Amino acid sequence: MDLKYTRKNVYKEADGKQLEAIFDFAEGYKKFLDSSKTERDAAITAKKLAEEQGFKPFSFSEKLKAGDKRYFINRHKNVFLIRVGKEDVAQHGVRIMVAHVDSPRLDLKPNPMYEDNGLCYLKTHYYGGIKKYQWTAIPLALHGVVVLRGGERVEICVGEDEDDPVFYITDILPHLGAEQSAKPLAKAIDGESLNAVIGGLPAVSEDGEEDKEAVKTAILKLLNQKYGFTEVDLQCSELCFVPAGKARDVGFDRTLISAYGHDDKVCAYPEMRAIFDYDSPHTMIAVFADKEEVGSDGTTGMQSKVICDVIDTIAASFKANPIEVRYNSKCISADVTAAYDPAYASVFEKRNTTFISCGAAVSKYTGARGKSSTNDAPAEFMGFIRDIFDDGKAVWQVGELGAVDVGGGGTVAKYIANLGIDTVDVGVPVLSMHAPYELISKADIYSLYLACLAFCK
Ligand code: MN
Ligand code: MN
Repeated sequence: MDLKYTRKNVYKEADGKQLEAIFDFAEGYKKFLDSSKTERDAAITAKKLAEEQGFKPFSFSEKLKAGDKRYFINRHKNVFLIRVGKEDVAQHGVRIMVAHVDSPRLDLKPNPMYEDNGLCYLKTHYYGGIKKYQWTAIPLALHGVVVLRGGERVEICVGEDEDDPVFYITDILPHLGAEQSAKPLAKAIDGESLNAVIGGLPAVSEDGEEDKEAVKTAILKLLNQKYGFTEVDLQCSELCFVPAGKARDVGFDRTLISAYGHDDKVCAYPEMRAIFDYDSPHTMIAVFADKEEVGSDGTTGMQSKVICDVIDTIAASFKANPIEVRYNSKCISADVTAAYDPAYASVFEKRNTTFISCGAAVSKYTGARGKSSTNDAPAEFMGFIRDIFDDGKAVWQVGELGAVDVGGGGTVAKYIANLGIDTVDVGVPVLSMHAPYELISKADIYSLYLACLAFCK
């Protein structure tokens, strides 16, 4: 019996076979990530993978039975994967795993396009918590959809192929940056200066009149030829800039991955794989949530009633009382947390933080200023989680997001818990969270996969 607790490092404990499993799993994740930069991209990827696994479209009016595998894509941005088990849902509830697939980025404004001194730009309004200075002078890709008059949807993705052009937000050169450098970091880059360069070739005038916006005219012509939309149609679009490029291994030993949007695709992928890979006796639901980075509101965020409607549909299929089903359900809110960073040690409390490569990160509570606005998982549910993770041989650790009163954060856990469902945060520790390229350990995403599998068992 170990009287004292010591945190385990996954790589230290792993044998050759386990190392191979860790590295294999990471290959699948990188592929998923590269095709899932936005919530819309992730929904398309999830649908494709679910269909390959024999999942069929879900309907609110259908009667489900044990063995059924369903996917529900809510408004292109929010995914529910449902796998109906043999166990009685009234007595045992359903088991839910929720991760979000939206990540901080730069959304286009509704009237984004303008020309200034021979260059054409798109204006942005940032989405989620970003450090603005990190988004200048890096290659950006444009992702999203434009809805044409009549309802036709035009999907756009420019900047991800090797041959694609990218887009670029300028920053001031250090030679002239003395005043900027003297400002506090948060004030150094103004939100209204996050405008991306999208072109510089003026259109040739057709009527001999001088066009003061000849570059903009040329770009609009080009866009109209390629996608069929005009400037006003941008008011009916959701387009955003995300960092261009693919997920990359980091380190001579390739133990880490840097990529855009680990938060929170690094949790979405393992929960999806767990529901695919294990035929559970429980009825399992894996959710890809949208809008987490901006408060989980709206039809596709976790504050929406849609998750209740999905649970109610399952309950109705078995003539079970939906209140009883919810009360007996359990949920893993799978979201990332801050990994201890020795370069910024003062914002952490070392005994109560999570460490890179030390396994799935369990947060009993999140919140800020005296645990405000948090789901605080009950001790009894923490005990349940400990038992299943240990039995499932998932390496895990417990920590808080930063030291007391330094800051804080939240997840969707409270919205699920508010429905009367026992919920706890379990995720992956991330370095440089919310940066254009975040850093995670392959050991930790694999540990979360084992934890999700244990939750399915
Ligand atoms: Mn997150
Ligand atoms: Mn986040």
